[in-house]
Amino acid sequence: MLFTQTLIPTLREVPADAVIASHRLMFRSGMLRKLANGLFAYLPLGLRSFRKVEAIVREEMNGVGALEIKPTVVVPGELWKESGRWETMGDAMLKVKNRLGGDFVVSPTAEEAVTSLVRDALASYRQLPLTIYQINTKYRDEIRPRYGVMRSREFSMKDAYSYHADEASLDETYQAMAAAYRRIFKRCGLSVIPVRADSGAMGGSDSEEFMVESAIGDNTLILCRDCDYAANVEKASCKPEAAPQPQASPVPALEPIHTPGVKTIEQLCAFLKTDAHTFIKTLIYRARNVALDLSGAPGASGLAKRKSAAEAPEVYPEAFFAAAIRGDLEVNEVKLAAVLKASEISLATDDEVERLTAAPLGFAGPVGLTTIPLVADLTVAALQDGITGALAGDTHYVHVVYGRDFVPWLTADIRTVVSGDRCARCGGELYEKKGNELGHIFKLGYKYTRSMQVSYLDESGQTCIPLMGTYGIGIDRTLASVIEEHHDDEGIIWPMSVAPYQAIIIPITYAGPVKALAHTLAADLEQSRIEVLLDDRNERPGVKFKDADLMGIPYRVVVGEKNLARDVPAVEVKRRGETAVRLVEVSKAEAELSRLVHRELDC
Ligand SMILES: [Zn+2]
Repeated sequence: MLFTQTLIPTLREVPADAVIASHRLMFRSGMLRKLANGLFAYLPLGLRSFRKVEAIVREEMNGVGALEIKPTVVVPGELWKESGRWETMGDAMLKVKNRLGGDFVVSPTAEEAVTSLVRDALASYRQLPLTIYQINTKYRDEIRPRYGVMRSREFSMKDAYSYHADEASLDETYQAMAAAYRRIFKRCGLSVIPVRADSGAMGGSDSEEFMVESAIGDNTLILCRDCDYAANVEKASCKPEAAPQPQASPVPALEPIHTPGVKTIEQLCAFLKTDAHTFIKTLIYRARNVALDLSGAPGASGLAKRKSAAEAPEVYPEAFFAAAIRGDLEVNEVKLAAVLKASEISLATDDEVERLTAAPLGFAGPVGLTTIPLVADLTVAALQDGITGALAGDTHYVHVVYGRDFVPWLTADIRTVVSGDRCARCGGELYEKKGNELGHIFKLGYKYTRSMQVSYLDESGQTCIPLMGTYGIGIDRTLASVIEEHHDDEGIIWPMSVAPYQAIIIPITYAGPVKALAHTLAADLEQSRIEVLLDDRNERPGVKFKDADLMGIPYRVVVGEKNLARDVPAVEVKRRGETAVRLVEVSKAEAELSRLVHRELDC
């Protein structure tokens, strides 16, 4: 391909809103242009790499037996009303009306659309397992799209959905997908961190996120320095506190102390000249749609219940809870919501706290709390001699003992893990990293197949509901992440597998024998299926070199008069990202480049 015959508008200046390398370099190298906030157009150079990522994903999906389909991007709102997500998706879902007033959705994801197709086509157990995928446009109306295609409104995703007769079959496909995802990211030259969410009792893992490290990542990861433990902070756990050691002398009896005007942990530390480790902090939460059985729990007898459409037979639309945790730690609201089986939780208002604790703000505590159920973190159970609010103004208790002075309704792991905590698996030190999610695989169970009434007949003619799994990869985000991982100050350094071109030929002067040889070499390389860009512009060599570095094309071949005039005519060959320049005989250039390119493609 001749440079002047394609469209590669390289830029020297950096767009003002481009704060990360991939955004800057995709613009500057002419891969991408912005149409509107969060909406980007790939130009020819960008689309070449985009298609290569797609091709790798497609190959690996086909390799595990997934079947590609091409549904529409605009789907009927009815499907979303069936699954219940018409309301719950919120404003991120772009809803539109057609001229007849019908509701439609610009797909943000496709569980509904694909499940409705499977519902119509699935009849017999002989068709299972069935895995279907698409690589298609998605739209999410992000409030603040940022970082170029890393967080855009319109993007391309590979999403796959699998259907199964039993757990073993779901697990088999899930494991095959987990392996395929590892191959996809490796082939793209990406170092991903697989983050598993352990399902606990079952032993297997129900979901796995594939993260790349990123300073602008919207996930916080907790990693172990000594083993491969990796978890999203929302779900991370750590080594539980050691059980209390038997004391040489028993802890003295509970004792109220006068603490005038002392409301915060900091004030209490200063007042009692001790540190936050010895305090029990008590927070009051409002929870919605609680599916946990609260019969017998403090204050729960008067709570309203209602039938739930979901799996649980009954839920409490609203309930309040107290959460107790060691004073130096934070409650992890995702974990707490999971313990309560609640759809959402939030801190109670000041008025609610004062009403439920019958005390001024700042004096909540677990001792004598009978109005609402108390959930204590494991760290509270491990505390031997604690200090806490006494449910009365200007009063705290000292010598508080878990189990003696109060018995929580539940004791569970509800703390937020932080750097420095110890790994639950190996005892190693845990640390934090920011990450971006590129892919996610997830066992859905019956969530959509039940609500959307998908069924098949088993061997004995019984009607059964299939189990389902879902598997996504963001194509644009994967491409941008390759650039994040492979670049320097001058530009992109493409891995061969996703490079837009594999070689660029730069004639020093585009005339005479130099021009002629550049064309011959380009034609020969194309014959050997090497993708070549020939820079035929009337620019100074320096400009062409700068653009070649910016575009990141792996091999640069410079054709110049001086080297052609040698006894053995030669060209200069340089790998982007390396400093060494090699002279290669003209007669061997095609074979040598072909060897170099294929060597990298094969590994
Ligand atoms: Zn570890």
